[in-house]
This record gives sequence, structure tokens and C-alpha cells, in this order.
Amino acid sequence: MQDAWSSREAWVYECLCCETTWDEVLEVRHFGDGHGNEAVIYERNGQPCTTPWTDCLCPKCQSRNVKAWAASRKANELPPARDGNDVAMVFHLRRIHAW
Ligand SMILES: [Zn+2]
Repeated sequence: MQDAWSSREAWVYECLCCETTWDEVLEVRHFGDGHGNEAVIYERNGQPCTTPWTDCLCPKCQSRNVKAWAASRKANELPPARDGNDVAMVFHLRRIHAW
């Protein structure tokens, strides 16, 4: 029996070269194998990507000297966007059918 669900994580980045800051919300797909193990895949714009804290590139100066940290706790305190919730539910339902 496999289980899969999606969540969202907000990440904040700061370039240590030019002090640009930006943030990003990534789709996180969790896969359970039914034995208590869990795998996680990050998706950016629907495409699997590397973990948010690696391969960060400053959009302004192209530096890789970027600091990243999760802002998910802060994001969870905000009222969830209705549209985002619907989309997440659709993803979840699709996932159930897909598996
Ligand atoms: Zn920069």
C-alpha cells in the first residue's frame, strides 16, 4: 500500500553578494511506502527540482552564494488561499487515482 500527498513550503532566499532577497513556494510531494518510510520530492512549477537549499542562483547577480531557509511556519500562520487549497485538493485526488 502506497500513500502520497502534497503540501507546500515557502522558502526565503538571500543573496550574500548583492543582498537581494526573494521567496518561493514549492510544491512538496510526499510518498509513503506503507512501512513508515517517507520520500519527498520538491517541485517547482510542476517540475521536479533539487532541494530548495541547493543550487540556488541569485536572479540579480547570478551568484550561488545564496542563503536559504524554510518559511513554512510563517506561511502556515497565514489564512490559506482558497484557490491554492482547491488546487492542492485536486492534486491530492489525482494522486490517489494515480497510485
Ligand atoms: Zn545577488
